[in-house]
Amino acid sequence: MFVLKGIEQLEKAIAKAKKIRPRVEFVNFGRYQVSGSKGFYTVICRKDERGYKVVDCTCKGAEKGLVCYHAASALSLHIGLARTRQAA
Ligand SMILES: [Zn+2]
Repeated sequence: MFVLKGIEQLEKAIAKAKKIRPRVEFVNFGRYQVSGSKGFYTVICRKDERGYKVVDCTCKGAEKGLVCYHAASALSLHIGLARTRQAA
């Protein structure tokens, strides 16, 4: 799990995601399934009680607080969806 403070945090993970091109499946708003080396990982994007954006992924890297490419992939979809919602 990590707290998203800015898009620059995601740069490396986004670069990796562009290379690997994982499949991102929408489960519901804030919950996504992303393909990885060992099957699908679940990524959850939410806001905690202090209003921070928190991202959870079920992979090993995220357990250690790393920004993984699964999270970056899910976030790019999530941010797009959030924008669409606000516009609606
Ligand atoms: Zn991950």
